Amino acid sequence: MEKQRYERPLIQKLENNMPNKFGTRTESAPMTHIDDVAVKDLMDKYGSPLFVISEKTIRTNIRKARKAFETRYPKVQFAWSYKTNYLDAVCRTFHQEGSWAEVVSGFEFDKALNNKVDGSKIIFNGPDKTEDDIKKAISNNALIHIDHLDELYSIQEIAGEMKKKARVAIRVNMDTGIYPMWDRFGFNYENGQAWDALNKIMRSEVMVLEGLHTHIGTFMLSPNAYAVAAGKLADLAIGVKDKYQHEIRYIDMGGGFASKNSLKGTYLPGSDMNPSIDEFAEAIASTLINSNFPPDKLPLLILETGRALIDDAAHLLGTVISNKRLSDGRRTTIIDVGVNILFTSFWYDHKITPAQPFTQYTENTVVYGPLCMNIDVIRDNINLPLLNKDDHIVIQSVGAYNMTQWMQFITLRPPIVMIDPEGEVHVIREKENLDRLLEFENVPEHLKDFTL
Ligand SMILES: *Cc1c(COP(=O)(O)O)cnc(C)c1O
Repeated sequence: MEKQRYERPLIQKLENNMPNKFGTRTESAPMTHIDDVAVKDLMDKYGSPLFVISEKTIRTNIRKARKAFETRYPKVQFAWSYKTNYLDAVCRTFHQEGSWAEVVSGFEFDKALNNKVDGSKIIFNGPDKTEDDIKKAISNNALIHIDHLDELYSIQEIAGEMKKKARVAIRVNMDTGIYPMWDRFGFNYENGQAWDALNKIMRSEVMVLEGLHTHIGTFMLSPNAYAVAAGKLADLAIGVKDKYQHEIRYIDMGGGFASKNSLKGTYLPGSDMNPSIDEFAEAIASTLINSNFPPDKLPLLILETGRALIDDAAHLLGTVISNKRLSDGRRTTIIDVGVNILFTSFWYDHKITPAQPFTQYTENTVVYGPLCMNIDVIRDNINLPLLNKDDHIVIQSVGAYNMTQWMQFITLRPPIVMIDPEGEVHVIREKENLDRLLEFENVPEHLKDFTL
């Protein structure tokens, strides 16, 4: 007979379906399937941990977002924010749904070109565009969103040398009532920097002012901040028309809408509290329509929504390594998912659901990752049913920023699969391996041999 695992007993109060401040326990069902594919089968086949992306959810999200804006405003264009998740399969899903590409580096620009996005449908943001990046953007007819005056002068010079007009917009930062203000990017509205840049562009022979851009922050919880920002961009656009008889083609409101995740330290869960896309759409569209644009001259409205469209489309599956007690008796569960692949655990309280049936008994638990680092905490306090070694868990809504900000540290990064709308599973990024990683390393000749 197999020897049973033994843990010294500890007397601790267990909660038996006790109501908490939101009513009775909400996470009473295990998450055994994702889009009808069994979590257990996925783990058996691809190992643990494993990122799982639902193509169906991505498509539903972008269609819902488009509908929210298109029912309120006549001309709308989404551009997928590459840095939020630049896996080619994810980007191409958005491109198939009609989204342009929004990139913030030469690398991302190349990735968009490689995904066959026409250069004129690539929006190039960010403070770090090299001269080569600018040349590439101009020759591809991309939309260059200028961040600072040094960049403006570089574009002026490079476009002059190339004898080709650069299609530009400026990024504008402004007081929207949200503090701290994101005023390190772009030109300020209130102190006149924005007008300064606009005048320079309008007087230039080699730049065409196509639009105005802002990106007021990320995980914004206030639709009203977008109304304020849209109003200020509309003022600038109408000012340019009055002064130069030049019509701006688009207003780009950036990204930043909150997803339904819960920020650490918030009292109510994000699913109850965070505004819906409709609320953001209403704030932006009604401001633009109510501004002084003639009704037949409304600019195209561009949105660079990232996290709100992808967060809930991805889950991270993991496995329990061990349970133990801290010195003060608190229950801890160690899982094979560390903060190096789940960056967002630093600011979200990610929902964690067991992937198999479990007891009704729960206990407050600290969930640790596998790294030899004290900061490797996935949840510092979560009410979880009692899990055993080798049980599987599903960490929900991890689609934004984790698969781009992750790092290879102590462990190799896990594979990523995507479930297509027919329920077929595709590996869209392979599990890392030592050989591939070593391809980047060189050992100098004199360090090759040693005796111990
Ligand atoms: C990061 C970024 C976005 C996307 O932001 P989300 O918060 O993911 O919606 C959009 N535009 C710009 C300029 C960005 O830097």
